[in-house]
Amino acid sequence: NITVDALVYGSYGKPSDVLKWHSYKLPALTANTLHVKFLASPINPADVNQVQGAYPFKPPFRSLGDQDSTPYAVGGNEGVAEVIAVGDQVQGIQVGDHVLPNPGFGTWRNFASGAANDFQVLPKRKNVSIIQEATLSVNPCTAYRMLKDFVPLQPGDYVIQNGANSAVGQSVIQLAKAWGLNTINVIRDRPNLDELKQSLEQLGATHVLTEEMLRSHDTKTLIKQWGSPKLGLNCVGGKAATEMARHLKANGQYVTYGAMARAPLALPASLLIFKNLSFHGFWMTRWTDTHNAQERATMVEDLLDLMDQDKLNEVAWTRVNWEAKDVVTAVEQGIQGYGSGKQIILF
Ligand code: NDP
Repeated sequence: NITVDALVYGSYGKPSDVLKWHSYKLPALTANTLHVKFLASPINPADVNQVQGAYPFKPPFRSLGDQDSTPYAVGGNEGVAEVIAVGDQVQGIQVGDHVLPNPGFGTWRNFASGAANDFQVLPKRKNVSIIQEATLSVNPCTAYRMLKDFVPLQPGDYVIQNGANSAVGQSVIQLAKAWGLNTINVIRDRPNLDELKQSLEQLGATHVLTEEMLRSHDTKTLIKQWGSPKLGLNCVGGKAATEMARHLKANGQYVTYGAMARAPLALPASLLIFKNLSFHGFWMTRWTDTHNAQERATMVEDLLDLMDQDKLNEVAWTRVNWEAKDVVTAVEQGIQGYGSGKQIILF
């Protein structure tokens, strides 16, 4: 008889207005279901946009059972859970396994029940923490796909990215290093710039520049000397993102995956006409929808191996306690920038 506590929303709006702590009884185990206990769930920018109703992928509102039959969606899309009970007919999942729920399942809750195909079982690795498991499916996977799918890169090639200290950016730096690629990493200026610069260099960043430095003529010359990047990864948008495009090599590929500055990406025609750059968007959710479980499993295994070998470290993170007030505050802060790392709920 387990009581589930969940952070839910039944309408869209400001997180502190619409998020609600809701308790209900975990549905009884059946032959085809399993019970899981969540260990850790991050708060990602897209989760916040989802609560605001500003994200194209919207989990349906459903009754979670018990006395309160109001339809709700449980917040959160990413997290790791441990299997605590398995129905007789369920195959390939055992008690004690760590699993990642599918996007939209709802991860801001301490317990859940679901069908086997709601979850992906994580292969066991000795040297991988629950923080790494909990943050694996969104950011490292996004970095992995963007580095692999848009342009064939050879060891020594350069990649340029903005929002380089974002969780995705940190994965890009480390994957690039593991694969012998060089990175030019653009961040916003700040009081403790040197500290951040050093921490990114420790992760394996080849060069770290501020948005202002990117605009200078000297930097243009420098980047040419280092080697013009074949791939640009845009987390931010706005003026700084336009500036980044100017540094790509002719025929380069430019991939936009985020819009943190909330400003459109303006493109000078010359980049299209004379430099023949190509501009793409990437959305992990679309990739997952259009690729099969085996392709996803291969990527996850690759990433776990790199984590196991200390080549892909825990993202910088801060703990969020599993208490309504703390989680709602963390969600409100989730997209404000200059944060102290990924916020992760520990249950
Ligand atoms: P994090 O919370 O880890 O990082 C946010 C980043 O955005 C920080 O680098 C922050 O820099 C920067 N930032 C915030 N506001 C601004 C601004 N006004 N101008 C410039 N930079 C800014 O986020 P994630 O790594 O989880 O996600 C980053 C982005 O990528 C989000 O937009 C997210 O939605 C998107 N994303 C997209 C995916 C896809 O499939 N398309 C998958 C995963 C993420 P600072 O330290 O300077 O504040």
